[in-house]
Amino acid sequence: MRSRPIFKYHPKLYESDVVTFEKGTCQCCGRETDAYISSMYCIADIDCLCLECVASGRAAEKFDGGFVQYAEPVSDPEKQDELFHRTPGYISWQGEYWLSCCDDYCAFLGDVGTEELEEMGIVDEVFADFNARIGEEFDREDLSENGVMAGYLFQCLHCKKYHLWADAD
Ligand SMILES: [Zn+2]
Ligand SMILES: [Zn+2]
Repeated sequence: MRSRPIFKYHPKLYESDVVTFEKGTCQCCGRETDAYISSMYCIADIDCLCLECVASGRAAEKFDGGFVQYAEPVSDPEKQDELFHRTPGYISWQGEYWLSCCDDYCAFLGDVGTEELEEMGIVDEVFADFNARIGEEFDREDLSENGVMAGYLFQCLHCKKYHLWADAD
């Protein structure tokens, strides 16, 4: 089996629900694949794109679209291209909002709630950072993994700081 592409900004992609592990035919390259993503922000109806076509940018080019809805600003156009056009998005209520730190996009680590953050021992630092980001005091009791108020955990690739984003149904 060929090794699967690795995504710098989405290192745990293959542990998430974004990838479908079934046989399919890629709409971009026409090849058979056993792992694919089934959505993209573009005009065409997408239900099967192999990860090679995502990683290479071929899918984004062919269908003139991207995989990530929103992100915090990062100055380097090459990094912008890698995130929006060569990185699979994540499942959320309101569309991706990819956090940045140290002028680069963070790695998306997965869904979290307050409980998971407590287990990781980072709950206080992450909420302090999140409150500063949104400019108000967030009620941490509300946050649960895949809940009505869902948390998304990121980590800076440079300073290694954890960052939280959350959205609601
Ligand atoms: Zn393909
Ligand atoms: Zn950083």
